[in-house]
Amino acid sequence: MEYVMTRTTAEWQAADAAHFLHPFTDFQALAKKGSRIITSAENIYLRDSEGHRILDAMSGLWCVNVGYGRQELIDAATRQLRELPFYNSFFQTTTPPAVELAELLAEVMPPGFQHVFYAGSGSEGNDTVVRMVRRYWDLQGQPERQVIISRWNGYHGSTMAGASLGGMKYMHAQGGLPIPGITHIEQPYWWLHGRPAGLCRAEFGKVAAGWLEQKILEVGPEKVAAFIAEPIQGAGGVIVPPETYWPEIQRICDQYGVLLVSDEVICGFGRTGHWFGCQTVGSRPDLITFAKGVTSGYIPLGGVMVGERVAKVLIEQGGEFEHGYTYSGHPVACAVALANIRLIRELKLVEHVHDELGPYLAEQFAQLGEHPLVGEAQTCGAMGALLLVKDRASGEAFPGELEIGMLCRGHCFGNGLIMRAVGDRMIIAPPLVMTLAQVDEMVALIRRCLDLTLADVRARGWM
Ligand code: PMP
Repeated sequence: MEYVMTRTTAEWQAADAAHFLHPFTDFQALAKKGSRIITSAENIYLRDSEGHRILDAMSGLWCVNVGYGRQELIDAATRQLRELPFYNSFFQTTTPPAVELAELLAEVMPPGFQHVFYAGSGSEGNDTVVRMVRRYWDLQGQPERQVIISRWNGYHGSTMAGASLGGMKYMHAQGGLPIPGITHIEQPYWWLHGRPAGLCRAEFGKVAAGWLEQKILEVGPEKVAAFIAEPIQGAGGVIVPPETYWPEIQRICDQYGVLLVSDEVICGFGRTGHWFGCQTVGSRPDLITFAKGVTSGYIPLGGVMVGERVAKVLIEQGGEFEHGYTYSGHPVACAVALANIRLIRELKLVEHVHDELGPYLAEQFAQLGEHPLVGEAQTCGAMGALLLVKDRASGEAFPGELEIGMLCRGHCFGNGLIMRAVGDRMIIAPPLVMTLAQVDEMVALIRRCLDLTLADVRARGWM
């Protein structure tokens, strides 16, 4: 539907600057510059207040898996809003959409996942994980198993527990994080940690997994509750670990009885070419955090899928689990999720990513990997990254203060493409409905932006 402008861009920007504090934003700097105003969207394209058409290669914020404007989801929300816009699931009550979604999630999840705990977002899902794994070990008679291990440059959300699990040091620096009982190991980023050490990817994958074993031994296995990680790091820069990494992580978790938590907030619901990222990397988690793609972002919903090992203890041994949110099992969110998952099935989007979109994107990114600015090109299903480097042969990086990623991102915005910069990694995670012709369109735009960035770099004498 065409958006009717009720104010000018400048008017929106002024009101935005006057009242709206944006997430992860330097408020003063944005107020000076003015926000971009997105007014409508269809399929994989956004429209801004100036009438520009923009190809959204980030699916909003990694979430609009079925693309924008799907009538099925709109109808599901409308119907549910009329029937029952809200009721809670505390006090021994439930609602039909929350039950039906729990059933459907159990169908699409890997085998062994029969139970769900609902939350409102990925961060709340991970807060639930922290409470739940500690509760599990309490019930198991091992209350000293409190410590959760996660990874530097992992992302698990922005609440106190989510940000603590995450390995973003700049987030820890604000607000006295991490909270007690959370400790980090280094990430499996071959370019940064394996390549300079002269290790091939396969060797490095085992070395990086070994850091988990070292940490478990350092903390004491009897004190370690769980290890949490994204199958493929998303917000950290779409870092695809070597194939040897996850099997070794699984072996270590098994050996020490440590619970494995797969944070699938990004990787879930088809992103990697399977329903869940753990199926792509071959791990067998005990808990799965989900959000984003469960509703394709049309409405907030998150949660934790609870595998047999934990569910059995919580249900058979536990008394009351003192945790939950007003919006746990929100009927409208659950109705939208039901319609969304049915649509993913109907459109065969997981198969599309696995058989067509993923392989084609991999081919195209391999070609972009030959560009003079690109050191490493990686993809996994419908996500990808291009690492910008000063010297392809030596792998020398651009000095950080040049902010090469931001320079490239500026060209993307200027050319009608949303691509995100994470440091020097330019990343994409397009809607799963993207056609191969649309991949061509996106890749042509990316190539143009790389060329423009290269021209800038040369003009400024940086290369
Ligand atoms: N986990 C992962 C892997 C994520 O990528 C994100 C969000 N990008 C979160 C958790 C947090 O989700 P939310 O922003 O919905 O709280």
